[in-house]
Amino acid sequence: MKTYLSFVLLLTVVDKIFAGNGEYWNYEDHGPYTWSQTYPECAGWRQSPLNLDYFDVVYKKFPPFVFSSSFDRPHVFNLKNNGHTVVGELPTGMPRNEIPQLSGGDLPGIFRFTNFHLHWCVLLGESPSEGSEHTINHVHGAGEAHFVFTNEVTKQTAVFAFIITMLPEGESSAWEAYVHNAVKLIRHGTHTQFVGNLMKLMENGNYFRDFWRYNGSLTTPPCSEGIIWTIFSHHIIFSYNELQALSLNVLHKDFRPIQLRNNRVIYHSTLGNTADSLRYCFSWLRAMPTIFIIVIFLDF
Ligand SMILES: [Zn+2]
Repeated sequence: MKTYLSFVLLLTVVDKIFAGNGEYWNYEDHGPYTWSQTYPECAGWRQSPLNLDYFDVVYKKFPPFVFSSSFDRPHVFNLKNNGHTVVGELPTGMPRNEIPQLSGGDLPGIFRFTNFHLHWCVLLGESPSEGSEHTINHVHGAGEAHFVFTNEVTKQTAVFAFIITMLPEGESSAWEAYVHNAVKLIRHGTHTQFVGNLMKLMENGNYFRDFWRYNGSLTTPPCSEGIIWTIFSHHIIFSYNELQALSLNVLHKDFRPIQLRNNRVIYHSTLGNTADSLRYCFSWLRAMPTIFIIVIFLDF
């Protein structure tokens, strides 16, 4: 009996530590501040996520993104609770020419869709104080959507990120069908299917022009660096009930805190609108005292 109890206890501990998927990390007792003990790269110098703003950036004109036509087409996605989030992938064996692919925007080469997934946090009120991974001027969104792409030649990863904001209670979003299926995935390893259109999920009314760009890392172990991040100013909209259903049914939270920038350059696209132009002007105004001092120095 004693041996049996010990065995059950051991199984319980192993299941808790490895979250049933052989990976020694989670967002609670083995949370982000402990990841580097097992995954040293999580303590690297080019980690993600970062805080972003409109001023401490380098403004740059990027060429437009080019999307294959399959982006704006319904696909059957496999949704799976992988123990850390619900990940959406296309069926294996799908013809290569049907897999959505992306280029332009100063991305090095052609990148094919790999998966999409969300980061969130249990909601404590209508004004969430955390949930997104990146922050804008140190302010969190209610969550964050990541669309992951891979360059099959170089194996480099690029991520499109969208901060999630909330609709008033009772309204539904373009992600309604996704949430309807994802909330059923309560246990790790469970899966289902969902028909969705990537372009509509990104519901990008700004033509992918207004964004931040920097080089960072995966925000989950092994925290591999060399990831090209594109974080759009345009937010994705969820209803309060949709986000709450995910956090109550699947995981309470799955976001990594802000990491040190360590002198990295963050670019901001200037392809956008009047607001962008104004921010560009403000960035010059901010730099005026420095320019003034340099001019005086040169004059002497
Ligand atoms: Zn992610």
